[in-house]
Amino acid sequence: MNVYDSARMADVLAPLGYQPVDAPEGADMVILNTCHIREKASEKVFSELGRLRECKEVHETTVGNRMVIAVAGCVAQAEGEEIMARAPYVDMVFGPQTYHQLPEMVGKAARAAGVRILNTDFPAESKFDHLPEETGAQQGPSAFLSVQEGCDKFCTFCVVPYTRGAEASRPATQILAEAKRLVANGACELTLLGQNVNAYHGEAPSTAGSSGSTWGLARLIRALAEIDGLERIRYTTSHPRDLDDALIAAHGDVAKLMPYLHLPIQSGSDRILNAMNRKHTGADYRRLVDRLRAARPDLALSSDFIVGFPGERDTDFEDTLKLVEDIGYAQAYSFKYSPRPGTPAAGLTDRQIPEDVKSERLQRLHDLLNVQQVAFNKAKIGTVMPVLLDRRGKRAGQLGGRGPWMQAVHAEAPDRLLGKIIPVRIEAALPNSLAGTVVIDERHDDTIKEKVA
Ligand code: SAH
Ligand code: SF4
Repeated sequence: MNVYDSARMADVLAPLGYQPVDAPEGADMVILNTCHIREKASEKVFSELGRLRECKEVHETTVGNRMVIAVAGCVAQAEGEEIMARAPYVDMVFGPQTYHQLPEMVGKAARAAGVRILNTDFPAESKFDHLPEETGAQQGPSAFLSVQEGCDKFCTFCVVPYTRGAEASRPATQILAEAKRLVANGACELTLLGQNVNAYHGEAPSTAGSSGSTWGLARLIRALAEIDGLERIRYTTSHPRDLDDALIAAHGDVAKLMPYLHLPIQSGSDRILNAMNRKHTGADYRRLVDRLRAARPDLALSSDFIVGFPGERDTDFEDTLKLVEDIGYAQAYSFKYSPRPGTPAAGLTDRQIPEDVKSERLQRLHDLLNVQQVAFNKAKIGTVMPVLLDRRGKRAGQLGGRGPWMQAVHAEAPDRLLGKIIPVRIEAALPNSLAGTVVIDERHDDTIKEKVA
């Protein structure tokens, strides 16, 4: 979501004469777009700011122009005042719901040195109604599209409800228009974003008699699937509680909806899930997975796991390992529990798990997930899969992209295939990627000829 938000900030700043550059050296303004989800992420902000301070001093003494330093995102929202106090060379600090106010903020801060902005409001108006149209200029063949933001679930470990604010969905008409612009600008894959994307309940397009009605995510996906030129739809991150029948059915019959789902469970222990306020059990999750697989048998699953949540016993952790073994993931993310200021779990000071226990559990979980990922990848050897080639590979003459199940795939391929979905025969599987050969069948020969012509 921060990648998407950064692109939208660039859209807002373009009319003011700003354009993105690759490095902070020599820039007139540097915006750090920050993440507060775990301690490590937010610690990085202060070390990064130290480096930018030097950069600013060099810039201002050698070039003689001011360099405006700004901090955006969730660390700005949560620790705005601390940043202002600890880093006096920072000119602007603003939270994730204020990006549409950037022209005004930049106008004030860039005009005169010493004017500092701290804006951590949750404005009544939605920023999406005030941001300029997404150009898609920077996004390329695989683009992000935010459909929903914020969260009302208050899992006891999580800062999102405090930093991103209450759950809010964009109107479907706005999303469909943005999707069409992205496709017109070369996107053939869209990933719908939201902290709780399947809680989506945006205003339905107005047709006679439908005022006030809303669409769920499944309905939105069906409407997006009708856009010509859009070949692939993904969404992330979803919550098991909001995975309704309509969405499960969409996985079964919307061909453009890719067979990969990131569905975080966090823990396999019902006791811990309850303490986390997840409001689902391991059995609920298993039932959902069964139903999803019945609808779409080749669905690959991914999840997030937290190990070492306060009070997690060995037996709870064993339940997590058991769940992973039973489900079988194509890949998954796992984290050590990180106490976040202001969240209920951080206050359970007598039940925090020692660091070495967390590390040992994380390692065991990693190892198991890794075995599953390697097995999933190896099972693709010898098959041909469509790959959206959206980037140059590490070696010359190589392109890379993603197959339907989200694995990174590399193949020798000419640049003219960039941005296209091309069949690739998989020949080798590494833990984090696949390698193969482009299969030029007649259909694609035509595509290539067309492109060359
Ligand atoms: N809305 C999604 C998750 C968004 S946060 C969901 O409910 O599943 C992304 C991931 O960060 C979470 O799934 C969780 O695994 C991890 N995370 C969040 N807070 C954390 C914390 N305090 N410590 C460690 N990991 C955390
Ligand atoms: Fe955080 Fe996800 Fe829980 Fe919301 S549902 S509080 S975003 S972990």
